[in-house]
Amino acid sequence: MDNCIFCKIVRGDIPCRKVYDDGDLLAFHDINPVAKVHFMLIPKLHLGSLMDANESHTALLGKMLLLAPKLAKEQGLNNGFRTIINTGKGGGQEVYHLHIHIIGGNIPPMVRQD
Ligand code: AMP
Ligand code: ZN
Repeated sequence: MDNCIFCKIVRGDIPCRKVYDDGDLLAFHDINPVAKVHFMLIPKLHLGSLMDANESHTALLGKMLLLAPKLAKEQGLNNGFRTIINTGKGGGQEVYHLHIHIIGGNIPPMVRQD
């Protein structure tokens, strides 16, 4: 995927502030954080969005979800964190390479308290 910004990060063509790296997955800090801690967890494989995933990606998606709490804890989010996966135009997705936002530190509740 020549023009995909996250594939460029995977290839090392664009720098990132790395959080985690293995054969399948990469995590790096969001360039425009919305909270004290905000990083992305992505598969190295180009998948446009969750809508492009199928049964062959079951293990990969499971690996991402199991890694998320470990990385969150390493980033100091001992009390919990928020995961967001924006999917497609209707989900407000801007970068079409599947990613999980992992956010925490100073976030408001999603459901209004009043
Ligand atoms: P989404 O709306 O879920 O597609 O969000 C895309 C996210 O990617 C945004 O939070 C951006 O700040 C982030 N982003 C875009 N370019 C980069 C980059 N080069 N390095 C890190 N994060 C980025
Ligand atoms: Zn990509």
